Amino acid sequence: MMEVVRTVAEMRERVAGWRHTGERISLVPTMGALHEGHMSLVRQGDELSDRSVVSIFVNPTQFAPHEDFTTYPRDESRDLAMLEKADVDLVFAPDVTQMYRDDHRTKVEVQGLSQILEGQFRPQFFIGVATVCAKLLIQTMPDVAIFGEKDYQQLCVIRAMARDLDLPVQIIGGDTIRESDGLAMSSRNTYLSNTERTLAPYLHQEITGVARRVKSGDAIEVACADATQQLDAAGFKSVDYVAVRDAETLEMPAQGRPMRVLAAAWLGKTRLIDNVAV
Ligand code: AMP
Repeated sequence: MMEVVRTVAEMRERVAGWRHTGERISLVPTMGALHEGHMSLVRQGDELSDRSVVSIFVNPTQFAPHEDFTTYPRDESRDLAMLEKADVDLVFAPDVTQMYRDDHRTKVEVQGLSQILEGQFRPQFFIGVATVCAKLLIQTMPDVAIFGEKDYQQLCVIRAMARDLDLPVQIIGGDTIRESDGLAMSSRNTYLSNTERTLAPYLHQEITGVARRVKSGDAIEVACADATQQLDAAGFKSVDYVAVRDAETLEMPAQGRPMRVLAAAWLGKTRLIDNVAV
């Protein structure tokens, strides 16, 4: 039977009981509005552990004041039904006051990695993400935590944070789950109008094109500039970036190292991000 708890104390008590009997614990942090992308991580968590924990928390500290915190999709009863069906053991669904005391002052920042790419456009975002994920990992102390490659830079930030803080957890990256036309699944895809939805798969198409061109030896700058131009022409209103980076450090790519193509672009009021391996 799946249990839902809303306080750190209850969550710790359940997990401590399992740890005491030597059971392996997994954690999948989410902001809810679950889709098949989340569920693929949940299934990995289940396979990698004896006890699976999923957190649902729309984290206010990772939203800028002008962003969509209040309108972010929320449907807890649907989420819980999906998690129950997936045999999750424990759902941790705290409210904001449980996670952040009025006088909370501590922030976790992975310097450098948090300022580039997404960080240039959302300066506080990764501080909010790293802080909440550090809290969730310390609260739960799982053996393994699973994060999606869909948010590739976030995965890099979490890996660095866990390593730098000596958190005794293995961080696993899960493949990006896509709609049949290539659009990466995202809770924010529900914001797209019908017209925007038909344009959205171009983002994946273009970065896949960049990956192919770079692999075949084309100049990175030219491939990225062409993709940006194609997205503009298709109707994306302002492309924040199309970039090719070192797949581990997200620094400028070097010969012989694995590379990743990452992009962010706006369709109307919706900001889409995506990435693929070269
Ligand atoms: P979110 O609820 O958006 O904070 O996402 C929770 C976790 O699900 C993060 O680790 C995301 O990277 C992951 N995730 C979101 N969308 C996808 C997707 N399409 N495929 C795989 N993982 C995803």
